[in-house]
Amino acid sequence: MILLGSTGSIGVNTLEVAKKFNLNVEVLVAGSNIELLNQQIKAVNPVKVVVAQQEDVSKVHHRNVSFGEAGILEAIETSTTQTVVNALVGFLGLRPTLKAIECGKKIALANKESLVVAGAFIDQAKLMPIDSEHFGLWYLLQDRAVASMTITASGGSFRDYPLKSLKSVTVKEALNHPNWSMGNKITIDSATMTNKLFELLEAKWLFDTTNLDAIIETKSLIHALINFKDGSTTAHIANASMQLPIAYAIKKEVNEEVLKPVDLIKVGSLEFREIKTDRYPIWEVKDYMLQNPHLGVVLNAANEVAVAKFLKNECAFLDISTLTLKALEKFDHVKLQNLDDIFAIDKEVRVYCGT
Ligand code: NDP
Repeated sequence: MILLGSTGSIGVNTLEVAKKFNLNVEVLVAGSNIELLNQQIKAVNPVKVVVAQQEDVSKVHHRNVSFGEAGILEAIETSTTQTVVNALVGFLGLRPTLKAIECGKKIALANKESLVVAGAFIDQAKLMPIDSEHFGLWYLLQDRAVASMTITASGGSFRDYPLKSLKSVTVKEALNHPNWSMGNKITIDSATMTNKLFELLEAKWLFDTTNLDAIIETKSLIHALINFKDGSTTAHIANASMQLPIAYAIKKEVNEEVLKPVDLIKVGSLEFREIKTDRYPIWEVKDYMLQNPHLGVVLNAANEVAVAKFLKNECAFLDISTLTLKALEKFDHVKLQNLDDIFAIDKEVRVYCGT
């Protein structure tokens, strides 16, 4: 495989899966964590390596190293492997997704932002999502009439905080996810519930429906539910680990144990909660976004700018949703005819939000 984002949370899990199933890694792409990258190079012996910045090239222990977006795109184009795992974070994952499709490669897609911003222009047949909720929906789907689909949310870092305290929470508190450890951006997106909005948009493109909703399940054991027209509901239950969706996205068929099964007696009980707008203000645009999924590019760009500001202590936690909602109102008229429009609007929204 070609692994984009090898040093991130999904990247590291992907390498675990590759080791377990003895899969070859042809290209490693990382950002600036050169120490971990060098360890990975030693472990998987790739043919090519790409890093974000030119100044890091000489620190990488490999003969064939390139850098930047051009380096990533060239690595995808020239590699012989047919599978690209895109575990980059944010809008920068979009061009590699498009390039992989152009080259006729199969994409195991963790970079949900690709679908959120450009789902209308991406051939879904070419990709398999690496996201527990969409994996869960895919796992549950069978030849029966579906009424609606529900995905679950953990509720994020502040699900149990008093509402009043949300205006003064810190970056450190926001990064302390109750159920698992992930990259910084998705951890913040999880705390604001924007991640779940992204996932609903992702599901809209993947399953071609807007009969979608989300609820909180605090133990993150149920990942997705399908309500069938006959009144039955089925649920996908698995311990919280990305290795299962990753294994399926890469291999399609998995007959070995990837995770220990859930012990329901030990679990004892499950708790479900409604996603409310007083705690998660972004949720007010949930139905609007499902009806106007092309606005995903606005949602994503504003959110990326706002999250970066919050992580640098330049704005408060609740300002992330405020700025994103403001941008959605400002750009609600945009029409997107092609991919060039997506890149242009992304830029415009970033300028508006004060990149
Ligand atoms: P991380 O922040 O942990 O990892 C991001 C990866 O991208 C790192 O390897 C980072 O390199 C690399 N990167 C960042 N900037 C550049 C750049 N300019 N050039 C090359 N590489 C770069 O994120 P996650 O692994 O948590 O998430 C990745 C994607 O998967 C996101 O879209 C997220 O929404 C999605 N996802 C994540 C889940 C999770 O459990 N973590 C679950 C489901 C989806 P470095 O660290 O070396 O700088």
